[in-house]
Amino acid sequence: MARKIRDASWLENEATATAPPEPCWLCGRLLGETVDRFHPIPKSRGGRDTVLVHPICRETIDANFTASELVRHAESGTPLTDNQTVARFVKWVAKKPADFHSATK
Ligand SMILES: [Zn+2]
Repeated sequence: MARKIRDASWLENEATATAPPEPCWLCGRLLGETVDRFHPIPKSRGGRDTVLVHPICRETIDANFTASELVRHAESGTPLTDNQTVARFVKWVAKKPADFHSATK
């Protein structure tokens, strides 16, 4: 018997519901209904600050940077769009709706 487990869902929804409309840290588009928290400096490297990004942007960051590279970018103040692949992604995603998500599943 499949039972829907809803107990933990309010936790996630709360973060989404209280997030004011603000631009995505990576692509600069306004955030949609689903937002992801991202550590510019990975937690494993002592990073505590989080920024809000689109899930698709989060995936792009995860796919293109290692923890060490993220730290290097954060410390030198180099935007992640310095990476050609990411720059191309940001340009490509600029005209997509906020909740657009490509078929990565
Ligand atoms: Zn974004």
